Amino acid sequence: MAELFTATEFNQHLAEHKLMGARCAACGEIHVPPRPICPECPEAEMTWEELSGEGKLAAFTVVHIAPTMMLDAGYGRKNPYCTGVVELAEGQRISAQILGVDVSDPASIAIGAPLKVAFVERGEGDEQKTYLAFEPA
Ligand SMILES: [Zn+2]
Repeated sequence: MAELFTATEFNQHLAEHKLMGARCAACGEIHVPPRPICPECPEAEMTWEELSGEGKLAAFTVVHIAPTMMLDAGYGRKNPYCTGVVELAEGQRISAQILGVDVSDPASIAIGAPLKVAFVERGEGDEQKTYLAFEPA
């Protein structure tokens, strides 16, 4: 089966608890989320590469008005959650839920704090899906 480096394939790797990027064979850049074609080297081949899963918090927001998927997971006005931008050790930035932080006291959440990857299962049966998250390292 041809690898297309789509979000679907990225999510399949998440389901196996692997944070994967697409590495360009020409320039060596790892694209996360993956992209089928390197913008610098459109002719080059891509290969999957597992990332270290380490990073640091670059930005965050505490979300009180949750989208449906997060309402279903029990979040909302009374149980807010933190979403953030994580700068990976490999240099890329990716947005994900940030677990294990005190959302009732956002001042306690530190930009630059070291994080490690976590995988959250939500939904049941055929609807079950693994979501990318990060937690304090
Ligand atoms: Zn490239």
